[in-house]
Amino acid sequence: MVEPLHVLRLGHRKGRDPRITTHLALVARAMGADRFLLAGDEDEGMFANIRSVEDRFGRAMDLEHLASPMAWLRRFAQQDAGDGGPGTVVHLTMYGIPHRTAIPTIRRDRPLTVVVGGAKVPPEAFSLAHHNVAVGNQPHSEVAALALFLDAWTNGAGLERTFEAPRLRIHPSARGKHVDEEE
Ligand code: SAM
Repeated sequence: MVEPLHVLRLGHRKGRDPRITTHLALVARAMGADRFLLAGDEDEGMFANIRSVEDRFGRAMDLEHLASPMAWLRRFAQQDAGDGGPGTVVHLTMYGIPHRTAIPTIRRDRPLTVVVGGAKVPPEAFSLAHHNVAVGNQPHSEVAALALFLDAWTNGAGLERTFEAPRLRIHPSARGKHVDEEE
């Protein structure tokens, strides 16, 4: 059985981060996440964008805003990941263990939350995480870090996930755009 995969984006700022947080959610959706959890500002406009992608290209991921993300994470990591037992928390940070070294040590038999930071990351994220994981030990982008981590975690299979009831289906082609649209 494949365990649920959550992506938690910390510290979203509605006026400043909508594009990068939207890209995080789109990467999470395209690469295997079941749930995207937003911490920081609530952002109905950003959620509406993702829902519109889900309406057109198929449903795959729930969206939720967390008013108390560290309390949620504490509970997930230590008590209840949704099935009565603790889950696994991976925190993406340039200070962590390189992802290709870390991944074989991460358990796969429990729900997983991948935490991605924002402008400021609370120190508790480092201590609550079972694994602080770096995608290279240089600062870059949370979107790149999430994509590379999920690709390695799923061994490439994340990009082949299925989507429920898509209205639009893209047919890969060498030239042009080939898209089927459901009536
Ligand atoms: N200034 C923030 C802090 O206090 O750590 C980090 C800002 S950084 C642009 C935002 C997020 O991108 C980080 O929290 C981390 O999740 C992710 N990130 C950036 N570079 C990374 C790397 N090399 N490996 C893993 N994650 C990275």
